[in-house]
Amino acid sequence: MTMDHKPYIVDCGHTVVPKTGSVGTGKATDPKTGRTMCYPCAEENERRAIAEADTYSVYLTSDRPNVVTTWTGAVLGTVTSLTRGRKLDSKDGPYRMQSVTVRTPDGGNWYGRGKDDTDVITIRRTK
Ligand SMILES: [Zn+2]
Repeated sequence: MTMDHKPYIVDCGHTVVPKTGSVGTGKATDPKTGRTMCYPCAEENERRAIAEADTYSVYLTSDRPNVVTTWTGAVLGTVTSLTRGRKLDSKDGPYRMQSVTVRTPDGGNWYGRGKDDTDVITIRRTK
């Protein structure tokens, strides 16, 4: 199978141009509806969704520890604190528990806690 890098139109009405040599298709699919979107629309969608949500799964990666992002890398909030516990062992390898507080552009404060062996962390709004 060869990768087709021709531009095409997705459901949001925008044209997507897959990058040559990239595994990314250039489009995102809404997991609930199956609707396809370009990355800017998907990011806009996520910004709207997190503004209305009380819990949300975000990406927190070691190369950008000061922000939480969508899977496409768009910033959803600023990390206001990040603490990691001591290294623990599991059958899947060592990990640490981490606690993060986040501030979103709507002024919301969020808290999340999870293992640091994954880039995804679920955060909850705090009062
Ligand atoms: Zn679009």
